[in-house]
Amino acid sequence: MKSVDAHLADILATVRPLAPLELELERALGTTLAEEVTSPVPLPPFNNSAMDGYAVRSVDILQVPVTLPVIDDVAAGSNELRAIGPGHAVRIMTGGPMPAGADTVVPVEWTDGGTVSVRIDRIAEPGNAIRRAGEDVQAGEVVLKPGTVIGPAQLGIIAGVGRRRVWVRPRPRVVVLATGAELVEPGLPLGHGQIWDSNSFTLTAAALDAGADGFRAPTVGDDPAAFLEQLDAQLVRADAVITSGGVSMGAYEPVKEALAPLGTVRFEKVAMQPGMPQGFGVVGDDQVPVFALPGNPVSSFVSFMLFVRPALDRMRGLPAGPPETVTARVTGALRSPAGRRSFLRGRLTDDGTVTPVRGQGSHQLAALASADALIVVPEEVTEVPSGQEVEVIRL
Ligand code: AMP
Ligand code: MG
Repeated sequence: MKSVDAHLADILATVRPLAPLELELERALGTTLAEEVTSPVPLPPFNNSAMDGYAVRSVDILQVPVTLPVIDDVAAGSNELRAIGPGHAVRIMTGGPMPAGADTVVPVEWTDGGTVSVRIDRIAEPGNAIRRAGEDVQAGEVVLKPGTVIGPAQLGIIAGVGRRRVWVRPRPRVVVLATGAELVEPGLPLGHGQIWDSNSFTLTAAALDAGADGFRAPTVGDDPAAFLEQLDAQLVRADAVITSGGVSMGAYEPVKEALAPLGTVRFEKVAMQPGMPQGFGVVGDDQVPVFALPGNPVSSFVSFMLFVRPALDRMRGLPAGPPETVTARVTGALRSPAGRRSFLRGRLTDDGTVTPVRGQGSHQLAALASADALIVVPEEVTEVPSGQEVEVIRL
């Protein structure tokens, strides 16, 4: 059997970062920056007031209280060039450009709020409540480096330096294609021998969660030809395809039957539990990576976490490797098959312990849904006593 690490290594050796493209800002959330973003101007671009108040010369308010005539009003967005002379005050709003000659802002709270003249009750030091040009960013300064994932704040600074479009590696488009003659669309009635399709929802959501865009393709039964037809139809919009089911040792394994003859997708036994049967390879002219995951709900989800997620990181241009683990003390005894790495479902608590959930079968989706961690039991270990330290993958 192939090791988990060897399988991941094969996948990461095949999958490439997506080519950068230029996107409108509205479409850039969750993408990975592929250029250095610099600011063409200083930010703030001009000295401006940090508060609503009065711009004055600090030498005019050395003795308080003092009353000064208000000679002008400066709102944010005001584009007239203003100046004040000795003994004058200008009413100014937050973001309003500082008038030439003024070197401090007296917050309105320190005054009587007058509009014709203003009584100032407190001394403001020079520079008070002024946001200096270039205080955030100098002209020409790099504000974001390539490889940065664009979240809301990153999007904000890209807009804040005046850009409308940006070069990024896009979110991978992941098509999820579930197979199984027994599958029924949730919301429709179940006949005997049928189950509701859950995997395609889990995997599409997991792709979204991993920074990709997930698309649920229409589910197909167990006919290899129908599967190939659906796959073919989906390839045009896919940077990667995840299939579920149809890769085991039984009869009616449409994914394996359809893809194995192509020679570009390998079906192997990976030394893990759950999730032993795994297929991976590329299909189509564009060599789209295909992850053929086993159908048991827990198996497909664990496979996603171990193999697909790191591959999506690679496609996004991010550092890619096995999932990170934390150490925790297990509160119950564990069993694991010899020669296979187990990923048992557990719940982590703040005191640094992890408790295995009831129901460790690879079909027990409710148990998975009650878990927030995978407890990793190494290949050579068959029994873990309660109280022992284990490595845990957070879900
Ligand atoms: P397979 O890998 O196709 O042999 O399926 C293994 C088990 O997983 C079977 O019990 C299937 O009914 C179940 N299964 C397969 N696909 C799904 C799915 N999309 N949602 C829920 N269970 C599934
Ligand atoms: Mg099946």
